[in-house]
Amino acid sequence: MARTLTKSNAHFRRALRRLPMGVSSNFRYWGDDKTLYVKRGQGGRLWDLDDNEYVDYRLGYGPAILGHCHPEVDAAAREGQQVGTVFALSTEREVVVAELIAEMVEAAELVRFSNSGTEAVMAALRIARGATGRDGYVIFEGSYHGLFDAVMWQADVENLADPSLEPELLPFGKGVPGLVKQLLWHLPYNDPGPLEDLLRREGHRIAAVLIEPILGSCCGIPASPEFMRAVRELCTRHDVLMIADEVKTGFRVARGGAQQLHGLKADLCTMSKALANGYPIAAIGGREDVMRHCRTGGVTHGGTFTAGAMPLAAAERTLRILKDTDALDRVSAYGLRLQEGLTRILRAHGVAHSYAGHPSMSGLFFREVPPRNYRDWKRSDYTFYDTLAQFLIDDGVLCEPDSREPWFICAAHDDACLRDTLRAFETGVVRTLEVLRGSPTETAGKEA
Ligand code: PMP
Repeated sequence: MARTLTKSNAHFRRALRRLPMGVSSNFRYWGDDKTLYVKRGQGGRLWDLDDNEYVDYRLGYGPAILGHCHPEVDAAAREGQQVGTVFALSTEREVVVAELIAEMVEAAELVRFSNSGTEAVMAALRIARGATGRDGYVIFEGSYHGLFDAVMWQADVENLADPSLEPELLPFGKGVPGLVKQLLWHLPYNDPGPLEDLLRREGHRIAAVLIEPILGSCCGIPASPEFMRAVRELCTRHDVLMIADEVKTGFRVARGGAQQLHGLKADLCTMSKALANGYPIAAIGGREDVMRHCRTGGVTHGGTFTAGAMPLAAAERTLRILKDTDALDRVSAYGLRLQEGLTRILRAHGVAHSYAGHPSMSGLFFREVPPRNYRDWKRSDYTFYDTLAQFLIDDGVLCEPDSREPWFICAAHDDACLRDTLRAFETGVVRTLEVLRGSPTETAGKEA
């Protein structure tokens, strides 16, 4: 059935008069005639202003772990609302949620709350600096840690004629001061050698190594167990703090996040998206001796909207569901069934492909072997994904048009979602192959 976007398009033209790009986040602009406006979401689906229905594999970049408008979480949020909003004072529930987090995430001995992933990572970095008395920090190529100056940097791999040279470091857009670079080291992912060299030489200037255990904004490329272990050991050896940015993976890939899967504890970690099923709240957890640096005369942390009563109540209910039910097992099981279904279709058409990440947030690659780092990924050809994604979206499967985002699964994705997805996927693959007019493996598997 052909999708029309008449109302979304009209709304875009109106929005453009008051909102830059017609949206409230640059990433929500998908083109003048393709930008979607949501009417509502429910479970694993959402509807746009034109009443087009989609199986939602974006889930707001992951937060809706239990599905949109989860009745129990929403009821808890309404109950939280009865407490009030914010008071510039603490409420009782903060410690309840902190206790739940500490039970689920071993590294989170003490907890502080923030409103967003960006704020949580900013706070974690400040705590690490306050605790160590150093200003430098390390991030890895392909990471995304939010929209604050310190982490808005990317390696210019595309223009790197000689792969043995170091890529230039470029800001994500304008307005990010170049001065910030003086404190930052940007290293390749999944390669402990450069980190070892750096910490040996410069460890005394470095407060923290920030790592996403799965590159949640670079196709879900996972850190290998060896790399995670190496980061942990090198940080310990050089007395540098390891910050696991689990804003995407926290309460999603396991109750205790990716740290649980790797069987290790970072010194600090940040969690946000799945914490309250979409209500705005984030947490910084960490070692007691490090977290106690948050104090008068020590590290300053806070904010007007921090630990608001409504998101806290939503967080408590979400965490209890994730902790006490099989919700996360169902998320992973659906993710695996989805991968099996997609693979059956792609194999039937001879299309080389692979998955990365975790079944609850996996990247789909059109090569036999997924990339291991940002440089591999940047050098790959994503024409097949880009073409297919557009057909899928037109046909009611809302995956990210940009191949960098993994597909997110929620506990509300059910058999009907899977059936609708696979039907659209079959048609989408056929149409993609027609458009690209080559033999599938040649077209889809080739390097750029
Ligand atoms: N860290 C990671 C790993 C993220 O994926 C994100 C958001 N995609 C952030 C930090 C920033 O979170 P927010 O968008 O809530 O500020």
